[in-house]
Amino acid sequence: MTDPVLETRGLTKRFGALTASDDISIALLPGEIHAIIGPNGAGKSTLIAQICGGLAPDSGSVHLLGQDVTAQPMRVRARAGLGRTFQISALAMEDTVLQNAVLGAVGAGGSAWRLLGSALGDQALRERAEEALERVGLMPFAAMRTAELSHGQRRQLEVAVALTLHPKAFVMDEPMAGLGADGSRQMTGFLDELRCEAPILLVEHDMDAVFALADRISVLDYGRVIASGTVAEVRANPIVRSAYLGEEA
Ligand code: ADP
Ligand code: MG
Repeated sequence: MTDPVLETRGLTKRFGALTASDDISIALLPGEIHAIIGPNGAGKSTLIAQICGGLAPDSGSVHLLGQDVTAQPMRVRARAGLGRTFQISALAMEDTVLQNAVLGAVGAGGSAWRLLGSALGDQALRERAEEALERVGLMPFAAMRTAELSHGQRRQLEVAVALTLHPKAFVMDEPMAGLGADGSRQMTGFLDELRCEAPILLVEHDMDAVFALADRISVLDYGRVIASGTVAEVRANPIVRSAYLGEEA
């Protein structure tokens, strides 16, 4: 038995009468990409928010590297090794590419948010940021204003920001969103490499990407996991076909 890097146990979250997460138990194993799919409103972002600490569950727990982190705030989880990218960009558009990466590394260093100027002067932080930019191929654009990057490059920068934390697990909410076909293919190749560094819990609508990347897929519908298995198993599952894939056909 391999121990999961990240695990949820019986996560449940209600918004009034709506159960947005209904007893969700999923695991992310070393080396894998575990995709979470499901129609709009199925509860994917709500699940991710509870895993990352933006939203407290009504019941159930979240475990990172065997530690119960359910009561810990987002920033503590991040420092403990949870790397995330957001559905909506969290980059500072007027700052340079390098400044955004350094800000990520400041979080990793555990220091309070300093003035950007002094952070940029900190050699260790700068090196950590440059290493992450190198890793995603953005070093040539380090001095560029973030707003000038293409959409695909911004997505890569978000991954670089997460990389400065040297994460043990990645959680990504729709990293392909807004990318064209070429951008999606490029990002797919990149995530395929990234899984060697840390496993990825991947929420994604782009089914070509999911089928190409995922070792396992869990399907959410009305807050519940209605199926979980390999790509082939999930594609062949009649419940999934009617609840979700049928919708796209
Ligand atoms: P997905 O990411 O799969 O599209 P969400 O997790 O965003 O789904 O939403 C799941 C359900 O929970 C939806 O019905 C949504 O309207 C509802 N929901 C999400 N966040 C809130 C909130 N803060 N308050 C009330 N309802 C919410
Ligand atoms: Mg969502």
